[in-house]
Amino acid sequence: MKSYREELFFETPTRRQFINITPQVGAAVKKSGVRDGLCLVNPMHITASVYINDDESGLLADYEAFLERLVPQRGTYRHNLTGEDNGDAHIKRQVMGREVVVAITNGALDFGTWEQIFYAEFDGRRRKRVLVKIIGE
Ligand code: ZN
Repeated sequence: MKSYREELFFETPTRRQFINITPQVGAAVKKSGVRDGLCLVNPMHITASVYINDDESGLLADYEAFLERLVPQRGTYRHNLTGEDNGDAHIKRQVMGREVVVAITNGALDFGTWEQIFYAEFDGRRRKRVLVKIIGE
C-alpha cells in the first residue's frame, strides 16, 4: 500500500472566504501515484472547514448569509471572554464540518457530477494549513 501526505497553505485577506481547492487536491492525488484508494482532506485548525458541494457563486453567498444569520460574527459568545474574538468561527466550522474523504478510482478523484472540494475559512488573515492524506495502491 502506498501512503502520501501533503500540506496546503492558505492566508485569506478577509476573515471569511470559500476557496475551491479541487485542483490542489487533484494534483496531490497525481503526485501520490495512487490509482485506487482514498483521499482525506481536513483543515489543521478549529476555525475552518473542508466540505464538498457545488462551485456556484449564488450558493456561496447563500452559505455566507445563512451562517451569519445562524452565528453572527458580532454575537455574544462566552468563548470571546478568553480574549479571543472568534467564537462565531468555531461554531461555523462545526456547522460546515471538519473533513472530506473522496474515493480515488483510476488515479483520479471519483466525484459526483457537481462535486467540488472547498476550504471554508471563518477566521482568516493568517497562515493556515490543510492536510491531504492519500492511501491506496
Ligand atoms: Zn478561539
